[in-house]
Amino acid sequence: MIYRLRIEPSGHEMDIAPTETILEAALRHGYALPYSCRAGTCATCKGKIVSGSVDYGEVDAKMLSDDEIAQGYALFCQATPLGDVTIEAKEVGAAAGIQIKTLPSRVARIVDLAPDVRAIFLQLPSTEEFHYLPGQYIDILLKDGSRRGFSIASTPSPGGQLELHIKRVPGGRFTEHVFSTMKEKDILRFEGPLGTFFVREDPEQRPLLMAATGTGFAPIKGMLQQLFANSDPRPIYFYWGVRYPQDFYYQDLLQEWQHRHSHFHLIQVVSRPDASWKGRCGYITDAILQDFPTIGKFSAYLCGHPDMVFDLSAQLEKAGIDSQDIYADAFVFAKGKSS
Ligand SMILES: Cc1cc2nc3c(=O)[nH]c(=O)nc-3n(C[C@H](O)[C@H](O)[C@H](O)COP(=O)(O)OP(=O)(O)OC[C@H]3O[C@@H](n4cnc5c(N)ncnc54)[C@H](O)[C@@H]3O)c2cc1C
Repeated sequence: MIYRLRIEPSGHEMDIAPTETILEAALRHGYALPYSCRAGTCATCKGKIVSGSVDYGEVDAKMLSDDEIAQGYALFCQATPLGDVTIEAKEVGAAAGIQIKTLPSRVARIVDLAPDVRAIFLQLPSTEEFHYLPGQYIDILLKDGSRRGFSIASTPSPGGQLELHIKRVPGGRFTEHVFSTMKEKDILRFEGPLGTFFVREDPEQRPLLMAATGTGFAPIKGMLQQLFANSDPRPIYFYWGVRYPQDFYYQDLLQEWQHRHSHFHLIQVVSRPDASWKGRCGYITDAILQDFPTIGKFSAYLCGHPDMVFDLSAQLEKAGIDSQDIYADAFVFAKGKSS
């Protein structure tokens, strides 16, 4: 049996199988809805069911409460149709038509960036085109059918490599492999590009607030490279938080950007400083709220630890940023994600 899915206000209509999530159906037809983890753990894809009913799937009450369900909300990455369904969602035009592919890649280079962070550079098959927007992520496909998300730190270039920044998770199946047994020339399969975390154009040219913890810098790096390459005039305030001073990396590049681009402001914050650290201390959420107690006319891009992303997002809304202008990739764990 096949049902119909309609997206309001665009009026786009498509078929949807009973076993398919609303997000999967939309992406299959080339319409991008806002989304990130695809596992029901980040709520980026939360939206309204206007008519029809759905099976809500496995949802964490923290991401979708009973009250929200009663008001008609669902997580589109989990909800499957029980009949024809109409939803309300703001489609993401820039990502429409970007094909999600499953590809093999070869590990071309492995570089240590910080004590617990490695970059791996993936060479794609020369016969394949791979389009993505800086900031999107890929899912590495493991042999047991599970997958692990990693943000792309590079920008697209013909024949170019995909750069990933991998933080070691103690006992983590994939990340421990990256730090112990992975070698150059190894083959990795992945699916991508995924997610809708990329810089939006803005006719109002509002300043950009970017905030990352740890390897949350990866997608921000690609976004910044793109903004500078496009001579985008918007002021940029980038807050990067880590635990220890030695967790920062790419410091030469960031200094060069500060030197070259007077509209780029870098604020690095350390939560467990030692005597060598002369910069800001604490958490980036506090630093941002100290610097901008009222912050109405900004658009915000948040990435990294889920606690920071969810907390800062809520605080920014309270301080005056419209929720529609806050974009985020929370590095939630791969719980329950399979190919
Ligand atoms: C959209 C997206 C983009 C991401 N981008 C990046 C990125 O660019 N760089 C990066 O380093 N990470 C990124 N992550 C996080 C990354 O996917 C996980 O760290 C990774 O899946 C861990 O895989 P593993 O096999 O090593 O651990 P697993 O074997 O899956 O987990 C082992 C144990 O560690 C816990 N765990 C898993 N991940 C984490 C974590 N991140 N922090 C703390 N505990 C964890 C698990 O609950 C489990 O108990 C991203 C996640 C998402 C959803």
